[in-house]
Amino acid sequence: MHLAFQANSGLSVALIFLLFYLYHGIGITLGYHRLLSHKCVSMPKWLMYFIVMGGYLSFMGSPIVWVAMHRSHHQNTDLAKDPHSPLHGLFHSFIGWMFELSKYLSNDEIKQQTKDLFTDPVWRFLGTKNCYKQGLLCLGFCTLYRCLLFCIGGVNLVIINIIACCAVFISTQLVNVICHKPQAWFSYRNYPTNDNSLNVWWVGILALGEGFHNNHHHNPKSARHGLRWFEFDFTWLVIMGLKKLRLVWNIYNTKNLNDTYTTHSLDRLENLETTKL
Ligand SMILES: [Zn+2]
Ligand SMILES: [Zn+2]
Repeated sequence: MHLAFQANSGLSVALIFLLFYLYHGIGITLGYHRLLSHKCVSMPKWLMYFIVMGGYLSFMGSPIVWVAMHRSHHQNTDLAKDPHSPLHGLFHSFIGWMFELSKYLSNDEIKQQTKDLFTDPVWRFLGTKNCYKQGLLCLGFCTLYRCLLFCIGGVNLVIINIIACCAVFISTQLVNVICHKPQAWFSYRNYPTNDNSLNVWWVGILALGEGFHNNHHHNPKSARHGLRWFEFDFTWLVIMGLKKLRLVWNIYNTKNLNDTYTTHSLDRLENLETTKL
């Protein structure tokens, strides 16, 4: 018999939804994206695994495959080889690319892109190739996790968690769709990057700071995406909170909003003007 879970008020349901949304959302924005893909920040391994698991348990699949896909996106932004550009169609950039990833990225290219992650046995265990096995493994862990939630709080807790994960999935995919559209509502650019990347404030709020995507494409090494006073970057606030607790270090931050350096090359991105905190 599971412990009693009393989601008997709208407020408690909303609070639990928010906690799940933030844990799984941060798993993607901080874990998969800023930490593993761009190495904008360093932290202890236990904390890194805890944060990345938030993304993994929201059905994001192998971190190695995700990171390879994302690095390829930065190297080929809005070009034919970009895995999820809206230039290939809005449905493709929202979800279709997941079923066609092998058209854009071979397993050899995945290995080439992520040599740094291959040194970690946990990331290797979660899958090094774009294949059904790593998808099934992720599905298995996601199912086990929800069984655990069921034991703790019954079916209500599981339903709230799944709805929160669906919301996280939609908000993060909106970055691919909306922030690379040639035109989007309430969008603007701070930098003249040589791609279609946009800052979209409402995607920024929903995707915990990832919607300030033109800032990000200008300087992918920066852990901070929201640069102007109204660019609310929740993931950056989390990083600053962890810094106060002395749990993160080597934090890269964009130095100068007026810096107009642009590039598609990851090697050259390492040389962008950033400052370590
Ligand atoms: Zn992008
Ligand atoms: Zn990125």
